[in-house]
Amino acid sequence: MRKVSHQARSKNKSIGFVPTMGYLHKGHLSLIKKARRECDFVIISIYVNPIQFGPKEDYKRYPRDLKRDKRLAREEKVDVVFIPKDKDIYPDGYQTYVDNEGSLSEGLCGATRPGHFKGVCTIVCKLFNIIKPDRAYFGQKDYQQAQIVKQMVRDLNMDVKIRVLPTVRDEDGLAISSRNEYLSLSERRRALILYRSLQQAKRMIKEGIKDVSYIRNNIKDKIKGIKPTKIDYIEIVDSNTLKRVNKIDREVLIALAVWIGRTRLIDNMIISHKPQASSRKL
Ligand code: AMP
Repeated sequence: MRKVSHQARSKNKSIGFVPTMGYLHKGHLSLIKKARRECDFVIISIYVNPIQFGPKEDYKRYPRDLKRDKRLAREEKVDVVFIPKDKDIYPDGYQTYVDNEGSLSEGLCGATRPGHFKGVCTIVCKLFNIIKPDRAYFGQKDYQQAQIVKQMVRDLNMDVKIRVLPTVRDEDGLAISSRNEYLSLSERRRALILYRSLQQAKRMIKEGIKDVSYIRNNIKDKIKGIKPTKIDYIEIVDSNTLKRVNKIDREVLIALAVWIGRTRLIDNMIISHKPQASSRKL
């Protein structure tokens, strides 16, 4: 992989890189298409990184279909699909990890999936070192991950530009995810509540409602109505620092992680605090 990447670079080609865990869907494809438009040489990786999964998480049953992934990559004119093996990435004697120890990883998935972002930073750092891309593409669907990767790039002086692209949704609004594969038909219907409650929160903010606990409770009641197995979090945080806010007085991220049956789904929305002209003030 290093050799191929080096060859492209020595021909003055810009390298775009899309790291994925495979089971490609329209969300991944939007990143790949953007990389294809912006870069001369496009590399994607497919690697289900064991160290970013907790011991009770879905590492073993995570959906995999390399044949289909390779076909989709070919259709998108990807130059290289990098599919490393565990023993290449974490050979015997492996000892070095990269972690975010600051506020960006304190809340949200950092709190509910301990060790997750250490696994993410480590694999992304390793992939960047192997591939040395000019640009790397991430989805807003995993907003906290993208923020943490940007911080890692700044903190560790990595020479790569991070691009974050909007969440791709199914027609009914459900954020597309490889994990949607786990959902039964009725679970999928119930899962729509994530997007709907985000939309409702957005409407409330646009109407001028500023009280965060009021908005959170509203989302919570809505989600509880579909009897989720568990709510991991419903948070309203500053979109830059990811720290909780009490009042909608800046751009915020509303982020959710909800279990529906055995499936943990996440979704989020960025909302600016400017109410629409005609709205009431509370
Ligand atoms: P994953 O294979 O789930 O690790 O995702 C690989 C990349 O695709 C990450 O940067 C994700 O944020 C991004 N991604 C996943 N789902 C979507 C989506 N629905 N829309 C946009 N990007 C996505």
